[in-house]
Amino acid sequence: MRIGLIAHDNCKGALLEWCAWNVPVLRKHDLYATGTTGTIIEHETRLKINRLLSGPKGGDQQIGAMIATGKLDALFFFWDPETPQPHDPDVKALLRLATLWNIPTACNVATADMVISSPLFEGDYQPVKPEFVDRDIVVDEEGHVVID
Ligand code: PGA
Repeated sequence: MRIGLIAHDNCKGALLEWCAWNVPVLRKHDLYATGTTGTIIEHETRLKINRLLSGPKGGDQQIGAMIATGKLDALFFFWDPETPQPHDPDVKALLRLATLWNIPTACNVATADMVISSPLFEGDYQPVKPEFVDRDIVVDEEGHVVID
């Protein structure tokens, strides 16, 4: 699976500890992380991480784009419920896309434990993906654009 890993600063310790605990499983997957999160996890666990931009610099949006284009299968995103982030709109956008595209998403340790220990995690489980119908765009007699 292609797995995304992100943690806000106050939660990086928790995600690092969780990754360290789960190295044998995580090692079998393709790991993607925002910049600082990825640097710390790679340094401390020796897991191979594909590092994206730092979250506030666009990393969350890069993960979101992977989700929207079918390139990410699971997300472990320990966001900080107590601290406003400069990139809160990106955080919301990422969580929205993860929900929209039916991506397994763990935002705390308990859920992460449940997800990674699920028999589905190492199987060939394929989550149902939403189907979107292209909307018709027509121009009426008065020249107004009408979206069906
Ligand atoms: P970081 O980004 O891993 O570069 O710290 C995480 C975030 O704040 O979204």
